[in-house]
Amino acid sequence: MLMKHSRGKEMAEDHEHVDCQPDQRKWLERRPNEAATMEPHVYCVACGMVKNLYGPRARKAGFYLTGLSALKGYLQRSVVHGKMTQGQSRLIAKALEELVDFQDFYGLSLESQSQLYLAAVKRVRPDLDKELVLRLLPKVRRRSRRPLIEAMAKPSVC
Ligand SMILES: [Zn+2]
Repeated sequence: MLMKHSRGKEMAEDHEHVDCQPDQRKWLERRPNEAATMEPHVYCVACGMVKNLYGPRARKAGFYLTGLSALKGYLQRSVVHGKMTQGQSRLIAKALEELVDFQDFYGLSLESQSQLYLAAVKRVRPDLDKELVLRLLPKVRRRSRRPLIEAMAKPSVC
C-alpha cells in the first residue's frame, strides 16, 4: 500500500534553513537601490533565501488573527462598509493558514508579511482600503530614532 505524504506544502522545500558561513555572506543593499546601504547578508545555503536581520520580525498567525477580529469589530460599527460575515473571516483565516511564506520566518520581514495579510483580506473584501486593514493590526514597537534625542542634540552655544 502506498503512503501519501500530506505533510507540508508542495511548494515549500522541507528543510531547516542553514545560515551560511560568515565569510560567505552576500553583499546586498539593505534598502533597494541605495548603494550606500550595501551590507553583507546572511543567507540559507540550502535554498539561497536571504535572512531578514532588519526591522521588525515576522509574527505568528495569532498576530494577524487579532487584527482580523479587530477589523471585524470595526466593520460591525461601520456605516460605510458592510459587516464582515463569519464566512468571510473564515476564508481569510484559511488563506493565511495556507500561505507557505507566512509560516517561514527566516527571510520574512513584518512588512512583507503584512502585505501578504493585506492581499488575503483584499481578495475577500476588495472594498476595504489598505490603511484601514493595516491600522487595525496590533501595534508593533518600532526601533526608531526618538525625536527627543534629536532635540537634545541641537548645537548649544558655548
Ligand atoms: Zn533554506
